[in-house]
Amino acid sequence: MTAPADPTGSRSAEVDNADGIPVAGWEAGAVRRASAQDAWGGQRGDGAPLSDRVASYELRAVVDPVKHTVEGTEKLHWKNRSDRAVRTLYFHTYLNGFAGPGSTWMTEKARFGQFRSGVDLEAGQWGYIDVQSVAQGGRAAAMRYVQPDGGPPTDRSVLRVDLPEAIPAGGEASLDIKFHDQLPRVTARTGWFGSYHLVAQWFPKIGVLELAGERGAEGPRWNVHEFHMHSEFYADWGSYDLEIVAPRGFTVGSVGGRVGEPREAPEGLVHHFHQDDVHDVAFTVWDGFAPPLRGGYDGPGSPHVDVQVLYPPEYDSSGRAALQATIDALRYFSQTLGPYPYKQVTVVVPPFNATESGGMEYETFFTSIGGSDAVDALVRYVTVHEFGHGYFMGLLASNEFEEPFLDEGINEWWDSRMLENEQLTFDLGWPSRLGFGPPPLHIWDFQWTTGSNLPGRPLADPIAGNSWHRMSSGTYGAVYAHTAVVMHDLEKQLGGDAIARGMKLYYARWHHRHPSAADLREALVDAAPDAAETIRRWFDQQVYGADLVDDAIDEVTSEEILPQPGRVENDGKIVERTADDVAREVADRRAAFDRERHDGTDGPFPFRSVIRTQRHAAEVPQTLLVEFADGSAVRLAWPVGERWHRWVFEKPARVKQARLDPAGSILLDVNKLDDGRTRESHHLPAVRLAADGTTWLETLLSLVSSL
Ligand SMILES: [Zn+2]
Repeated sequence: MTAPADPTGSRSAEVDNADGIPVAGWEAGAVRRASAQDAWGGQRGDGAPLSDRVASYELRAVVDPVKHTVEGTEKLHWKNRSDRAVRTLYFHTYLNGFAGPGSTWMTEKARFGQFRSGVDLEAGQWGYIDVQSVAQGGRAAAMRYVQPDGGPPTDRSVLRVDLPEAIPAGGEASLDIKFHDQLPRVTARTGWFGSYHLVAQWFPKIGVLELAGERGAEGPRWNVHEFHMHSEFYADWGSYDLEIVAPRGFTVGSVGGRVGEPREAPEGLVHHFHQDDVHDVAFTVWDGFAPPLRGGYDGPGSPHVDVQVLYPPEYDSSGRAALQATIDALRYFSQTLGPYPYKQVTVVVPPFNATESGGMEYETFFTSIGGSDAVDALVRYVTVHEFGHGYFMGLLASNEFEEPFLDEGINEWWDSRMLENEQLTFDLGWPSRLGFGPPPLHIWDFQWTTGSNLPGRPLADPIAGNSWHRMSSGTYGAVYAHTAVVMHDLEKQLGGDAIARGMKLYYARWHHRHPSAADLREALVDAAPDAAETIRRWFDQQVYGADLVDDAIDEVTSEEILPQPGRVENDGKIVERTADDVAREVADRRAAFDRERHDGTDGPFPFRSVIRTQRHAAEVPQTLLVEFADGSAVRLAWPVGERWHRWVFEKPARVKQARLDPAGSILLDVNKLDDGRTRESHHLPAVRLAADGTTWLETLLSLVSSL
């Protein structure tokens, strides 16, 4: 591995600790080796707590909605699961990503161009966290910022803490932490606008100490990446007890369930929340929310779940759409994966000018988007996606830094399965009102159009790569739709309910742990052992790799098989048939054919039809459907290993049309235009035509990527 040219700078020497425990760095990425059975305490069983509760927090946040600050105190209870004493700990201090141009986050934003809608911070709008003290038994710990991923030395998103006293192997520690947050103007999922606050990435959160057999680790290893623009989540499971203090008149919503009624304190009203078995906490504080919309899920697959939507009064239609979408998603995910084990979920619809805090996910708490009723369909799509993160990354707590496709992509795929019987409509504002909006889209047309290598070349980055070492925002964006397409095609290849069983097994085995790409692969294999080779090959080609798929029909011809001049055998004798003889015979038989009406065939002579198919890229299971003029049809399998095939038919009827992938199972194919041909003209899928030469698709893409 050469030194990282990207991000610039090199990993700081201070990253290394005296405990002899390495820290994952810039080169970390997709995991190919399955985790051990006992990883993270083994599969969760009946009666035990849902998670192993490695890092639990008692947090108190005093919010000043005028200054946009949080005065925070934190008591962290942390278990040293390793077999050695640990004196050095590492914390995420991610609010510092918004401190100024020297952060890794801002450096990546400059490199990639912009983040989502591209809100830039100005004077007085920067955000940061100032960790004032970390104490162990009343004794202060030493602190300094380090850059494990080789980000700029000015990055302050990872804090190294050296304790006065080592925590023994298998021991536990309680630390007292004081911090001050200055929230940024809403820029990327967190911050304020006016008196609205979405408070996320706001407290010092300890990194994950992984052990041998966990996500490819060969021994104890800290996993605590810098705050990168395209990823945010990887933390230990624990219990969170949270007191949020805000002025009277402000509505407060948070991860977790309320404990009692708000009570008076000198600084304001104290709102108490508690949630076991989650791995992060975020909250909102605003004096502009309408009274919450409430509903719930009572159905198969999960215990009762209360749903509450906090929304601005002018977005009531969005609030209702978000409520219904959440309940519908609870039903789909509960039934297709496994139970949603929490008692409540809170949805926030951000106000106008705070949309950049929309499309954001925490367990039991997420944000959607809002607008006029014209965007209800988009609200539904975004809500399903953000709720879906409650499973993919929430319950199945993969590492978003190193394997973002496991939450963004797998979630997008599962959402698409849920929404495939609905029409997607997208409102683009005034162009739509003038009638220039895009047509309603089928979700798989949408995923195919955005996820199938439009330029006709392989993706520069496989979907299984990490979040920061990406050629461009575009190749990172492929993590969403391209994953959906890759998994769609795998499901079609396997057929039946193999994938449905595999994903239930993935949930059962890995909920409340930290699965890797290899763990997903092996769950799918174990649910469909007969297809093990197919699944593993597909992961190598399309998950860890990015093989192009491009099968094409490049020739379809049909010709009558006419008698030919020359020496031929006739009644045991060789005779010579002249061109005149042939012409006469052809004319006679045509005349007879015309007299005697016939059976739907085009003439008295049979046809020789030739279809030539060519494989321009990777091998995939492929079917050719050939339809003949007399209504007959044949389905043929592309011979394994052949790069091209010439199919020749001699039949009374000519070929009417030929089509590769007639069932639409291979959305990965870069060019569906050449998958089908009639003799006269191409058969054109309407969506690709609609996409050509228009910009609405790009608008949509920039909106959808990084939800
Ligand atoms: Zn997402």
